[in-house]
Amino acid sequence: MKQYILFFIVIAGVIFSLNKISHSVFPNEYQIHFFHITEGDAILIKTPSGKNILIDTGKNQITLNKIQKYNSMFQNTIDILFITHGDSDHIGGTASIANKMNIKSIVYSGANKPSRTFKNMEMQTKETPKNILFSNATWRIDQNILLETIAPLSNISYHDEHTNNDSLVFRLTFFNKKSILFTGDIEAETEKAILISGQDISADMLKVAHHGSKSSSIKTFIQNVSPKLAIIQAGKNNKFKHPHKETLKIFESFNIPTKITATSGDILFCISKKHPDFHICPQ
Ligand SMILES: [Zn+2]
Repeated sequence: MKQYILFFIVIAGVIFSLNKISHSVFPNEYQIHFFHITEGDAILIKTPSGKNILIDTGKNQITLNKIQKYNSMFQNTIDILFITHGDSDHIGGTASIANKMNIKSIVYSGANKPSRTFKNMEMQTKETPKNILFSNATWRIDQNILLETIAPLSNISYHDEHTNNDSLVFRLTFFNKKSILFTGDIEAETEKAILISGQDISADMLKVAHHGSKSSSIKTFIQNVSPKLAIIQAGKNNKFKHPHKETLKIFESFNIPTKITATSGDILFCISKKHPDFHICPQ
């Protein structure tokens, strides 16, 4: 009897592992996961060659659980971690990820925050090389992904309580065709400054700034991005009541559809050389 139980446990383990592996791989597809987490932003880009690119780490260890859900048990590396800014809902999950995975490099705007969470993140990642990026940089982070930085508009390296407007803003273009603009938590002040700088901010998809808060997404900024889809990362029943209905109205007024993680759950897109447009991942 004991052997039978052991046999079933082994078989169940193998099925579970195979399921995890098959779940994580769509051959030749880049996967873009906008995680539904309780609070904050966390976006995982998986490349066909098995690289993990993470943009922010959410508030807590839920982000690690999500990353593991979409990776095989053999994949425990984050190749590039982009930290848009130092608020706890964007960096709070870093320590738990660094505990279980190897974070190879961190890219951020240079803005530090005098908070316990920020210090904890610095401590947990003290061995990880860190790079500061600001506007007008271009970087081919993968054969088929081009990064262009939009903000901060100048080099910053200081401690401040209020880092929303210092968020790293960048556009990723896949296959030289389709792009996503990531805006961290920038507010109207930085949106206006970006517009004045005259940079091209058009994108096919927009990660809406600051979880759809009323303090962001001014009309002229949205008009200039002119995305075909806007993604809002906001937790279910979050205490800030994100996204704000006035912000949703702005997207409606431009006929831009929105997808909100609070109602959609994890939002996943694929893009590939064969199908170079954001699409539902093949099963
Ligand atoms: Zn935030």
